[in-house]
Amino acid sequence: MDKKEILSKFSTDPERYYKVKLFENEGFMRKSCTICKRFYWTMDENRINCPDHSDDTYSFIGNPPTKKRFDYTQAWKEVESFFQKNGHTSVSRYPVVCRWRDDLYFTIASIVDFQRVMGSKVVFEFPANPLVVPQTSLRFKDLENVGVTGRHFSSFCMIGQHSIPNSQGYWKDECIDLDYRLVTEQFGVDKKEVVFVEDVWEGGGSFGSSLEFFVKGLELGNAVFTEFQGDLSNYRTLDQQIIDMGAGLERFAWITMGTPTAYDCCFGPITGNLIEQTGINTDSELLVRYFTEIAKNFERFSDLSEVRKNAIKSAGLSNEQMDKIITPIEGIYLIIDHVRTLIFAISDGALPSNVGGGYNLRIMLRRIISTMNRLSLKFDINDMIDMQIDYLNDTYPELEETREDVKTIIAIEADRYENSKSRMQKIVSKLNQKPTVDDLIRLYESDGVTPDYLKEMKVISDIPSTFYSKLSELHQSKKQKEQDQLSLEGLPETELLYYADDPKEFDAKVLKSFDQYVVLDRTSFYARGGGQEPDHGTIEGFDVVDVSKHGNIVLHELKEGTIKEGDTVSCVVDSKRRGDITKNHTSTHILNSSSRSILGSWVWQHSAFKEEDHARLDITHHSALTDDEIVKIENLANSVVKKNMSVTIENFDRGTAEQKYGFKIYQGGIVPVKSVRIVSIEDFDIEACGGTHVKKTGEIKLVKITRTKRIQDGVVRIEFVSGDTALDYAKQHDVDLARESAELKDKAKLKETRHEQKQELKEKLPILVENITACKIGTNNVDETIVIMTEPGKPNFCSAMSEQYDEFFHISLGEKLIEKDPWMVYCGVFEDGDRIRAIIYSGEQVGKDKKAGDIAKTMSEVLGGAGGGTQRFAQGGGKDKSKKNDAIEKAKTMVLGV
Ligand SMILES: [Zn+2]
Ligand SMILES: [Zn+2]
Repeated sequence: MDKKEILSKFSTDPERYYKVKLFENEGFMRKSCTICKRFYWTMDENRINCPDHSDDTYSFIGNPPTKKRFDYTQAWKEVESFFQKNGHTSVSRYPVVCRWRDDLYFTIASIVDFQRVMGSKVVFEFPANPLVVPQTSLRFKDLENVGVTGRHFSSFCMIGQHSIPNSQGYWKDECIDLDYRLVTEQFGVDKKEVVFVEDVWEGGGSFGSSLEFFVKGLELGNAVFTEFQGDLSNYRTLDQQIIDMGAGLERFAWITMGTPTAYDCCFGPITGNLIEQTGINTDSELLVRYFTEIAKNFERFSDLSEVRKNAIKSAGLSNEQMDKIITPIEGIYLIIDHVRTLIFAISDGALPSNVGGGYNLRIMLRRIISTMNRLSLKFDINDMIDMQIDYLNDTYPELEETREDVKTIIAIEADRYENSKSRMQKIVSKLNQKPTVDDLIRLYESDGVTPDYLKEMKVISDIPSTFYSKLSELHQSKKQKEQDQLSLEGLPETELLYYADDPKEFDAKVLKSFDQYVVLDRTSFYARGGGQEPDHGTIEGFDVVDVSKHGNIVLHELKEGTIKEGDTVSCVVDSKRRGDITKNHTSTHILNSSSRSILGSWVWQHSAFKEEDHARLDITHHSALTDDEIVKIENLANSVVKKNMSVTIENFDRGTAEQKYGFKIYQGGIVPVKSVRIVSIEDFDIEACGGTHVKKTGEIKLVKITRTKRIQDGVVRIEFVSGDTALDYAKQHDVDLARESAELKDKAKLKETRHEQKQELKEKLPILVENITACKIGTNNVDETIVIMTEPGKPNFCSAMSEQYDEFFHISLGEKLIEKDPWMVYCGVFEDGDRIRAIIYSGEQVGKDKKAGDIAKTMSEVLGGAGGGTQRFAQGGGKDKSKKNDAIEKAKTMVLGV
């Protein structure tokens, strides 16, 4: 449905869709903007245009319309106390990592907190009605605007005011009345300054009217009335109507402070502190002039650099003022914003990486570092983290717990970036033209080179405005769910005995039987789910090879055989297999919590797989595990096994479970049902889980980690075994260790013997040389060498191929022999691994005709390889060990000519 169409339809009947009691009571007039024609409601007779097109747009900068001044923290206190006074429950923020929805990485709005997906339907879980929540919301689409426009953030606090119209909650009239009084009474804005603009909202099959409220051109909030479903020609009222009012807390602070940008009043003392550190001479009159121009004209240009150019001109800034004041100050704004977002994201368990939502965090940290380098800013990131967490403490005290973890992760990630710089430099030096947006995306995706780095290196001067939105689109691909192919319509849901008494032998009625598949009225066969592999066993004696769940119906697959519908069949579950899988499954919980307490709060279960004889747990972690960490995790897990802790299972209403235990329960992903099965291993580990578990951890006997591996950026796989498999593994492991150590000993011994031999030969060498050169004419055998002496003035030949002689020996012997007898050619052959090698020396007299290099070449050809060298020394060889003698014969012929 087109938003414009809905708006034009709703605007033809303002009485029905927009007119609230407040407008009547206070005498609001409905007007149409002379420029954009939009309809708006105001008490000001003289107003002729909508807030976007009025003269007073952004005139609050430098001239706030309130007497009171509230910074970010104080502004929330005002909002909270106002709503509490008016019957609302104040709810703590939900995590920014959106683990209860599988279509979102991050929480992007306050209403997301309360949305749960069941099948294709979105249902709402409200912990109270009505309520107000300071929800930190992350949005990465406009990253290039952050720091520049004065009002864009990568994360902001969305004040969520939510109500279901029933006996406790309210609908449009009261919502708008509250918002109006919040702005006028609590914040003290003059009544005439508040303008409501007519708009609509649509999404997820529902839609409704909305009223945006503005003061001095700044949109403070948007009250959405989620009211209808269907399409414009035929729609009906929703069963569950919702008030979804979202307002930016940053804007409430900004309007009362009237600072040049919202960044100046939303980070407490931090902005001022950093500006002071740099010694920038901020002239507030100049900043007000410049940023007012930016704010007013932001929508006018499609490109951010155009907005800047226009503002420089209109505000009359010199190049020097831009370089010395505006550019560094924009950098500071960006850095503070990005640090705050990283704090929230990492605290809630997200890790910078190149996959999923993690890429946003990586790119932000790299922007922080590049910006500091480009502007020569020397801020200490840890100091900034401390300042932020100190400042946020009033509103978000929970950040205190992860203060050090955030520092750890950021330090690791910053290091990683520093280490990749020389590689990035090489890539950048090869760029021979200005990169396009697609080039930039490729450079980042495949080489990790961010456009901010290119800016730092002066390869580009501006980051194209479409870069971040394009990159964001690329990473938006959502998980596709497998669609059920089978037609099981009309069948009742299967009664799951494994959640009750869990009998391993039971009777059941066959409701449907087709091909190899059987549906029973009840079953104790665990169906594949949550990474746990299915049970095996028999139905009427036929082997069950697979069990799967389709909606609420369990499907059994038989290896062979057919079963008649309507029959009662006897079923047997393979209890040994089930027992082993159950131990592995429970071990997954134990290893997951063990990993978190050894490694850090950022560890979450990424995924898991539990078979009979092996299992694996993938966790989120920044680096490969060290041997020490593996030992510690395994030891902690086994201490839990030894303590024989109780494993208890309780069912809770989903909302209650979330409130009671928090979102850490969703280790295995989202829970698409209203009732949540909470599995607790005393207070060591608490998770929502639908699998099978032991009753006492002692049943597991032993957990052994068999292998760990970093399988993708930010994810480490732990492969393990438990129970008897682990005991067998440990036994085998001991045997292997013993064998390995015996092998090592043998090796050491061999080395020692070799060493002794070498020493022996070394001592023997001068005598051997003496004996060889003392030979008379004819063939002589001297200590495993064959010597052929001819008459004086003719070439002599000596060869050796004893297994005891190594390279070092042949070289020493050859050197010495030709020194002593310049008519000698020495030829040593020895094995070296899977090769056979030859070393040749030719004496000074003989070498002119019988060059060592030529001899080596010829010998190598015989041996099936290649060789060469100088007149005096050469070497070569090949792979054909059987040609050892042939090669020496060939050499002999070359030297002696016979
Ligand atoms: Zn307008
Ligand atoms: Zn479980």
